[in-house]
Amino acid sequence: MTGRNISNLMRPFRLPDSVSSPVVTPLSPSVVYASRSPDELDAQYDGDLSGYTYAREGHPNADVLANLLDRMESAQGGFVTGSGMAAVSAVLMGLMGQGDHVLGGDQLYGRSLRMLQQDLPRLGVTTSFADAGSVEAMRAALRPETKLILIEVVSNPTLRVADLHGLVALAKERGILLAVDNTFTTPRAVQPLLAGADIVIHSVTKLLAGHSDVTLGYVAAKSPEVRQQMFDFAVTAGLTASPFDCWLAERGLLTFDLRFERAQQNAQALAETLGDLPGVKQVLYPKRTDHPDHDLAHTVLGANGGNMVSFELEGGRAAANSFVQAASELAFAPTLGDVGTTLSHPASSSHRALSEQSRLALGITEGFFRISVGLESIESLRSVFSDAVLAADQKR
Ligand SMILES: *Cc1c(COP(=O)(O)O)cnc(C)c1O
Repeated sequence: MTGRNISNLMRPFRLPDSVSSPVVTPLSPSVVYASRSPDELDAQYDGDLSGYTYAREGHPNADVLANLLDRMESAQGGFVTGSGMAAVSAVLMGLMGQGDHVLGGDQLYGRSLRMLQQDLPRLGVTTSFADAGSVEAMRAALRPETKLILIEVVSNPTLRVADLHGLVALAKERGILLAVDNTFTTPRAVQPLLAGADIVIHSVTKLLAGHSDVTLGYVAAKSPEVRQQMFDFAVTAGLTASPFDCWLAERGLLTFDLRFERAQQNAQALAETLGDLPGVKQVLYPKRTDHPDHDLAHTVLGANGGNMVSFELEGGRAAANSFVQAASELAFAPTLGDVGTTLSHPASSSHRALSEQSRLALGITEGFFRISVGLESIESLRSVFSDAVLAADQKR
């Protein structure tokens, strides 16, 4: 072995010169970035020169993706996290401290609910819940030490709508931070920061990336100080995202508008179809006139109903089993926002830990399904759902 044969180990790596540029963002998996001198490294850390140092603190693929998401959310300085829950953690753990109180909407995503119920109290942060559709209920649940309100615009899986504008006014009046998880609604339907919220959160895993092949999150704040506090915690706690995931999500995001439009059209049409089928007890879709929050949905979501539809079959668990077996062309899988339609049965998955009584209080019976409507042709969706609902109805 001669001392000269080390060409493969040469660091730092330099791309070959090219006067033309790639049209696709290069993938940059490098964990470390070599600086040219201690003076320059100092200047980088001081923020006087821009340059990456270590991937947990930032890398090009995260920044490219965050910039795209910032534009969609009319945000500045938003950052990407390794999952939607990492984004929720950056907000709750990055900003709250002992003695603070957090008020949550009472139908939050399961793990967000769990963080409020189990993890924050362990760290000395108290929490409680109220109906985010009612400003009065939320107001009544505030305490002198309430520092933050966390809501989702449209709840999972019952698709109830939060009174976003009323809660913005309440939070401003009381000097409380309002954090909005915009995962279900997406910036196509709602831009929480423009509406007056302080923080917006996404599980990019869902509709934004859209292909069920990455787990990522995003968070942005109106105040640079709030943003910095969350970002520093995210870097310290290691909540930041991998370059490859960011690169994939950027690719997915390029078609987000088209996917959203198509999925929303399909959802609206499928909601109508389901409403006409025998054995379907109720259909929940925000654009339907029989939706319990129809007027509020119009105020908050405008013309957008989104891609999520829930419905309830007569006949309980037996009908639910027959339905899923008959709908074998659809993925029976507890996620949402994929290019393909997915079905979820909350009583046996997301809401299985609740008592039957708590489930029923939310309206989640054994016949309750949530559909994340995908991009298939509406004819094929109609025929799969009609056949499967009829098959379940005949077994009753
Ligand atoms: C999925 C989801 C999350 C969590 O996101 P992950 O990327 O799975 O960590 C948070 N909030 C909502 C509303 C979600 O649907």
